[in-house]
Amino acid sequence: MNKNVRVRFAPSPTGGLHLGGVRTVLYNYLFARHNAGEFVLRIEDTDQTRFVPGAEDYIVQCLQWCGMIPDEGPVTGGPYAPYRQSERKSLYRQYAEQLVKSGHAYYAFDRPEELESMRERFKTATNPAPQYDHNVRLEMRNSCSLTLEETETLLEDGVPHVIRIRMPENETVTFNDMIRGEVSFNTGLVDDKVLLKADGMPTYHLAVVVDDYLMKITHAFRGEEWLPSSPVHVLLWKYLGWEDAMPQWAHLPLILKPDGNGKLSKRDGDRLGFPVFAMNWTDPKTTELTKGFRELGFMPEAFINMLAMLGWNDGTDQEIFTIEELISKFSIDRVHKGGAKFDFEKAKWFNHEWIKRSDAARLLPDVKRVLADNGLNIADDALLSSVITLVKDRCTLLTDFYDQSKFFFETPQQLDLDAVRPKWNAEKKTFFEAAIAQIEAAPAFQATEQEAAFKELAAKHNIKPGELMMPLRIMLVGGKFGPGVFDIAAIIGKNETIHRIQQALKQLDLA
Ligand code: GLU
Repeated sequence: MNKNVRVRFAPSPTGGLHLGGVRTVLYNYLFARHNAGEFVLRIEDTDQTRFVPGAEDYIVQCLQWCGMIPDEGPVTGGPYAPYRQSERKSLYRQYAEQLVKSGHAYYAFDRPEELESMRERFKTATNPAPQYDHNVRLEMRNSCSLTLEETETLLEDGVPHVIRIRMPENETVTFNDMIRGEVSFNTGLVDDKVLLKADGMPTYHLAVVVDDYLMKITHAFRGEEWLPSSPVHVLLWKYLGWEDAMPQWAHLPLILKPDGNGKLSKRDGDRLGFPVFAMNWTDPKTTELTKGFRELGFMPEAFINMLAMLGWNDGTDQEIFTIEELISKFSIDRVHKGGAKFDFEKAKWFNHEWIKRSDAARLLPDVKRVLADNGLNIADDALLSSVITLVKDRCTLLTDFYDQSKFFFETPQQLDLDAVRPKWNAEKKTFFEAAIAQIEAAPAFQATEQEAAFKELAAKHNIKPGELMMPLRIMLVGGKFGPGVFDIAAIIGKNETIHRIQQALKQLDLA
């Protein structure tokens, strides 16, 4: 076990948090906690064209909802502050300059139209979008093609420039990925990425390496989509002389669409009717709302559990894990190499299991909120807890608690009497009138006693209890659902039970 484990989640604040992003945080978090290490949140906001106001706050709230609180980050602070790359801007130039000095990077003065003309000039049928690399480098306006004096004049004149990495023409970069094993890339295929932009902001490539170094990150989990960038990062670690401190990489396989190949996208969610974001996200520009798992009614425990299993297992058939169990059992060698298809039905199954396994005390605040969102404000916690215990097995989503429990608190107005009418008759009406009298006379009102008395009365009236149960349920609940009908009667109480039977009898008379 490595005592100094430090991992980071390094999102760019560009919008809602995709469930793949949450899984990346989760694996970082589990690994850190398993190894008694630190979990850092770093906001990678150097691409100001992609900056979206509110996105950072949203990420912080998502982490909070999931219970993965960073040990260091923009909110918490920490010894390596600031944790927002835009606030570290002044720090990066020196490293870019160091790379220029050592010959691993160069100044490039090309204007947008010159880049455009290069793409036109070098375009071929097999290479329709030529990149800025060793093939074209000497044809461009940069410190490789210009003389030292020319370059210095341009710099002194303040001509806008970027700093690009000089990718070797034909080298193999190899590193050991914790999930994929040995990975190799030919540097000749990778373009000369910009490291420092004209406005002095670093690009992601430079900032990620500098910050992982300065923040002493030991292990870096990130999505597989970053694998093609890894040779650039590995070379930067080497060129900056930090090779020994390079974190161990783990590129996590993609979360795939349920019905095909490729990464699960927001569009797939829209198309198939499920969210892909952790929480509701409203785009501040378009005000478009994208739905999230939290608002749909997922418990964070279930969401996390489901994500953990989307690419990892502990080698047994166990599927339900608490976060504590995940922390103690998580190991990288059991992270799958291939992508996992997302299955929304399975996700709901996890939530249903978690609702069933949670006690009323855990569910109470969430259920209160769901009911309040629907205009039902319940102040009596003891009462609400009894209701929760009765109905929770019937709820797949937290939002289901409203339909499954509203009739405990409000007299149902719409009764499904069409289900009762075909078999309704005078004898049954007489029976229910007698039942009202019996309930009225009963001293105590307990589910078991009530049930026994009801059955006895049915026998007296020569009606099978089975024929009376469904009408009674519809009278009390409004429809053919809900927990034990006498449990419901015991909770709504004697007077309300009588009132509901009377209301139904009246409506049945009207037909
Ligand atoms: N800022 C990158 C992102 O938005 C982070 C990639 C990494 O973890 O290196 O995904």
